[in-house]
Amino acid sequence: MEVSRGSEYIYSDTKLDLIEGQAIEDLKASATEPIPDPDSWLDEELSKNILLTTLDGLINWGRRSSLWPVICFPACCAFEFISVMGPRFDLSRFGMEILRASPRQADLLITAGTLTWKMAPNVRRIYNQMAEPKWVIAMGACGISGGIFRSSYSVVPGYNRIVPVDVYVPGCPPRPEALLYGIQMLQAKIAKRTSIIKDS
Ligand code: SF4
Repeated sequence: MEVSRGSEYIYSDTKLDLIEGQAIEDLKASATEPIPDPDSWLDEELSKNILLTTLDGLINWGRRSSLWPVICFPACCAFEFISVMGPRFDLSRFGMEILRASPRQADLLITAGTLTWKMAPNVRRIYNQMAEPKWVIAMGACGISGGIFRSSYSVVPGYNRIVPVDVYVPGCPPRPEALLYGIQMLQAKIAKRTSIIKDS
């Protein structure tokens, strides 16, 4: 088929085939040798250096960079947490994209919601079954103190009555940015841990 503009022919199938064929021939002619690895300089640079750190520094780096939250979101703060998991705030940047359905595979409890006394034994059981070492972020006014439901007979006035809390994130609900900041605070706390067993 020929492409035309008025009476003027622009391309014919044959001409297109020739142009495409020539481009392939040119590429073949210029691609006779393998392209060297652009990162080969890394081997040379690394062999000239010694990296020093402490065992604590290495372990803490691994732990704070791969926190796995357990699924335990009893009330409306959960939606802010879900937002943090989405593409806009992208919790994966912190190595936290995996939400664990089993507490045995999790090391972070984010208390995203009001806790009632009826649910409290189950939340404590989830915490007890989580892998050591483990951490807790109290998210939202309800997680910190019971929030607007504090005076209710049925509401736990803060998760810290049930489990030890490491970081408190205020708000009703806290914005996703606030939760991210709380997570960064927790990471800073983990970075200061020591695994050395001290004499009692
Ligand atoms: S702090 Fe506010 S948003 Fe969060 S669970 Fe309580 S009432 Fe709901």
